Amino acid sequence: LLPTVAIVGRPNVGKSTLFNRLVGKKLALVDDQPGVTRDRRMGEASLVGLDFRVIDTAGYEDEDPDTLPGRMRRQTQAAVDEADVALFMVDARAGVVPLDEEIARWLRGSDTPIILVANKAEGRSGEQGVLEALALGFGDPVQLSAEHGEGVADLFEALLPII
Ligand code: GDP
Ligand code: MG
Repeated sequence: LLPTVAIVGRPNVGKSTLFNRLVGKKLALVDDQPGVTRDRRMGEASLVGLDFRVIDTAGYEDEDPDTLPGRMRRQTQAAVDEADVALFMVDARAGVVPLDEEIARWLRGSDTPIILVANKAEGRSGEQGVLEALALGFGDPVQLSAEHGEGVADLFEALLPII
């Protein structure tokens, strides 16, 4: 059985962009069960020979924004509980916002190892956000540009000792 990596974080930080980059054409499973699993995608990834399953938490687009945190929390919790490691993604350009801090509080109580990922870190425009991410208390963030494919080697190095 392949190890499982969940990608979690608030909407629009780039989770699905990383999922698509990792999984590419190998989208093996689309989970259509009811409940929390209906909003997520699963796929198989291979990163420099490291094989794992990836869970992309997603699908709030059609929801009443007032119900977002509860649903996101259930979905995030379910994915993290199932995973061997979770990538907690923040947006380095936007910096840390209150919802990131709230998710950080949920994740702090989890037994699953967490790797903090500061996405959209291409160029220098993410530097301030990277510093803010450090203050979330999950150590040095892996700096990534999911869209441009930068930082993938650092992500590999962070995953390697865990999975
Ligand atoms: P999700 O809601 O967390 O799944 O985020 P998406 O993957 O849908 O991405 C949200 C937006 O951020 C899209 O417009 C992406 O093109 C953009 N995005 C994703 N990764 C990057 C990145 O590395 N750099 C920049 N500048 N934009 C990105
Ligand atoms: Mg998404």
